[in-house]
Amino acid sequence: MTFERVVVTGGAGFLGSHVCAELLRRGSRVVCVDDFRTSTADNIEAFLADQRFELGVADVAEPIEVPGDVDTVLHLACPASPVDYLRMPIETLRSGGFGTLRALELAARHDARIVVASTSEVYGDPVEHPQRETYWGNVNPIGPRSVYDEAKRFGEALTEAFRREHGVRTGIVRIFNTYGPRMRPGDGRMVPTFLRQALAGEPLTVHGKGEQTRSLCYVDDLVRGLLAMAASDHAGPVNLGNPEEVTVIEVARRVIEVTGSRSPIEHVEPMQDDPRRRCPDIRLAQRLLAWKPEISLYDGLRMTAGSVGHVLAGQRLT
Ligand code: NAD
Repeated sequence: MTFERVVVTGGAGFLGSHVCAELLRRGSRVVCVDDFRTSTADNIEAFLADQRFELGVADVAEPIEVPGDVDTVLHLACPASPVDYLRMPIETLRSGGFGTLRALELAARHDARIVVASTSEVYGDPVEHPQRETYWGNVNPIGPRSVYDEAKRFGEALTEAFRREHGVRTGIVRIFNTYGPRMRPGDGRMVPTFLRQALAGEPLTVHGKGEQTRSLCYVDDLVRGLLAMAASDHAGPVNLGNPEEVTVIEVARRVIEVTGSRSPIEHVEPMQDDPRRRCPDIRLAQRLLAWKPEISLYDGLRMTAGSVGHVLAGQRLT
């Protein structure tokens, strides 16, 4: 596997733009397919002058044509933050469902390896801890979050069907909460929200008591795992995330520490279907891909705070 020419759907998004950057750093040619529905061109501006970077502005739920050779498809296009998918529920089902179908068809036509970005949300509100890939999940199929969770579950089923029926070299990664620079301060996910609030001197809003746990993976670690999966021939699903389980209230405290903020913590209403615990079992990724996260929460938050602060400063100037 050489990553000669790689299609990255959702390549302008938070994770996708880091994937594109790492592929370019490794010498690959990159075709980014995105329609900027949950991102802006700012994320990929630095790559536009690079001859090895091509941008196709297109909806991945429609048939995707990429002329020329493609050896790898990394399918990341899908609204991923709760703010986005609750705002566009049907579009999320389309992106996660039809978008995955189109990406698989593209991979089949090019005889390419494809890795599909699934999510820890397929486990729903898990009754098994930590979550292993063998756990089938506990998802409310009609709750507000189901547009994301069920689209991803359907995407996994499609991916497996393409492997079985058409022999496509598919891989599924189940990504757990990942954070880092280029997250939008207003995207509604926990880390950028806390950072934005701390940097603005506003109260950090914690849903419920904040005893629910999350596992937070720094983006560079995640990209390394995703590319290790793409370079392998494993079908997955493989969990990628940081197994260090931390409570939401603890994350809020660490954000205050990292930013030196004087913001208080404010408890607000619990969210519907908010998972109580979320922690990956990553033994499979360790065994198959020799992968584990290396960046501590403290260092990751520090690096992310700089980027969120930069965006906020820019917003104040305009
Ligand atoms: P993001 O919203 O920053 O990026 C998604 C990108 O896909 C955006 O650039 C958006 O414009 C694009 N997109 C969405 N629907 C599209 C469509 N129909 N056509 C073309 N482009 C479209 O989100 P992210 O955090 O970078 O997530 C990327 C992928 O990783 C998603 O599939 C998400 O489900 C998965 N994931 C992310 C996390 C995380 O913590 N960041 C966790 C689990 C899974």
